[in-house]
Amino acid sequence: MCGIVGYVGTRKAMPILMEGLAQLEYRGYDSAGVALNRGAGIDVIKRCGRLQELKKALPKRSAAKCGIGHTRWATHGEPSDLNAHPHTDPSGELVLVHNGIVENARELAGFLEAKGIDFATETDSEVLAALIAHEYQELETPDLFEAVQSALNRVTGAYGIAVMHTSVPDEIVIARNGSPVVLGLGEHEMFVASDASALVSHTRQVIYLDDGDVCRVRAREYEIENLLDQHADRQPVTIDLESTRYELGEFDTFTLKEISEQPDAIRRVLRGRLDKRFNTAHFGGLNLEPAEMLGFKRIKLLGCGSALIAGSIGASLIERLARIPADAESAAEFRYRNPIIERDTLYFAISQSGETYDTLSAVQEIQRKGGTVLGVVNVVGSSIARQCGAGVYLHAGPEIAVVSTKTFTSTVVVFALLALYLGRMRDLSPAEGGRIIEALEKLPEQVEGLVARKEEVAEVAERYARFSDAYFVGRGESFGLAREGALKLKEVSYIHAEAYPASELKHGPLALIDEETPTVAIVPDDDLYAKNISTLEEIRTRGGPLLAIGQSDELAGFVDDCVVVPQTHPALQPIVHLIPLQLLAYECAKIRECDVDKPRNLAKSVTVE
Ligand code: GLU
Repeated sequence: MCGIVGYVGTRKAMPILMEGLAQLEYRGYDSAGVALNRGAGIDVIKRCGRLQELKKALPKRSAAKCGIGHTRWATHGEPSDLNAHPHTDPSGELVLVHNGIVENARELAGFLEAKGIDFATETDSEVLAALIAHEYQELETPDLFEAVQSALNRVTGAYGIAVMHTSVPDEIVIARNGSPVVLGLGEHEMFVASDASALVSHTRQVIYLDDGDVCRVRAREYEIENLLDQHADRQPVTIDLESTRYELGEFDTFTLKEISEQPDAIRRVLRGRLDKRFNTAHFGGLNLEPAEMLGFKRIKLLGCGSALIAGSIGASLIERLARIPADAESAAEFRYRNPIIERDTLYFAISQSGETYDTLSAVQEIQRKGGTVLGVVNVVGSSIARQCGAGVYLHAGPEIAVVSTKTFTSTVVVFALLALYLGRMRDLSPAEGGRIIEALEKLPEQVEGLVARKEEVAEVAERYARFSDAYFVGRGESFGLAREGALKLKEVSYIHAEAYPASELKHGPLALIDEETPTVAIVPDDDLYAKNISTLEEIRTRGGPLLAIGQSDELAGFVDDCVVVPQTHPALQPIVHLIPLQLLAYECAKIRECDVDKPRNLAKSVTVE
């Protein structure tokens, strides 16, 4: 991952920027650069490679007291001196550093090219610099802050940016959407960073920008507004080194922190992707024309572990809403079975880290045979993202815990959006599209409500943590959820858990149901509700302890324990049912005193076969 730093104050900026960049080194990057605002002009020094290369290229000294710096992890354009940040506008008066991806960069570049602007690099970030400069010139009274606001109103994608202009040598404008930016408050000086760890040696007073915030930073003052020119009141918080180092905040574990971050993760996935005019979704990075999209007759989703399970739910959603045959398969199995690659099949490669070796290999296999494959990944600029060259980013933020929680949710939401988009190209009615959009918009709040019910699930977990085996059952998309529930439970609590389609129970596993083998059943209010109730009866008759996660209060009459989740559109049921399953696994692991964040034998990003 990449980073941003900035300084404005009474001291010389260059050493402070370099120190900040060194703090961000641990994330990995491919190039680095700084811009120093002297007033009379801005010096830009940038180099491909390690910080050492940049250091060698720096002037001996610079009197500039205002500057910005960047470490880059290339997404658009290869790592090179030219593509490194900071980027300037054609006049050289405006400079910008950018983390993230401008998803409509191509369209914006077309707009600017029509106005006679040429681009020197292949980056999306240079387009953003030129766009801000263009807006700056359009203003009656030129103002960098306003120019940034007006430019960002035209941008889709995720960004954290810092911008300077020669006309204001004591000002940095920063903005955030999906990619973190922190303002550090000093005595007559201000610090900017993408990660508080880069400024904690100077100040503990920080302001975390929210998505949509634009902030004018001067040595003694700052001003924050949103993209609608409304004042935003952001209170400074005092950070301690501990929380910066581990970034755990108020939480004991990253797992719980990431479970709690899901409402925001969903907001980020939805941001800029809902189209209420046509009641559909849109994506900036698919790089496929509608006509090409219409040509696909089949969809195949590939992934490993939770990504595979999220894919199986995604495939059901695509079939449900778009009526395109779709299925999910283990990327590892797929790559070794000499798969038949068809021109009219669209492939998706799903991976949180974007580095999963088996999935990457499957992508290469598809591409080698001439197939079309898109990435669904969380880590920007990761191998799979780059190999695919097109796809959808989850923008879920870093996931530190080994087991995936928020990236699972984000993946399912991405596929709900894709299913909506593909559905609306085919038979899904505008009215139904509208209902799905409405339900999607309600989802973050509903998930918030579910996360807040942690104690209720903890109480249930007290009765289930002692068992050594468990079944998870569901039908349709809920079978996918049963798989995820079982996987989570075994990963973090080491309870042996198996998922079965509820319909299959009587074809075998029922033989194992007894007082010591509980079943967790996912029972949404759908067409199969009555069938699920029959399954519950079969289990109860055999004396198996029963926990139901469902939407009807009536369920309590059939089971020992029940967690009732809110109603939503049938396509989004998996999300609301998922949260109690995550919490159940988490609480069982806590009771059994397992290391939830780092389960034995497992690693976060599986870059080996
Ligand atoms: N998309 C930008 C680039 O490729 C920024 C990448 C980053 O976040 O470092 O240059």
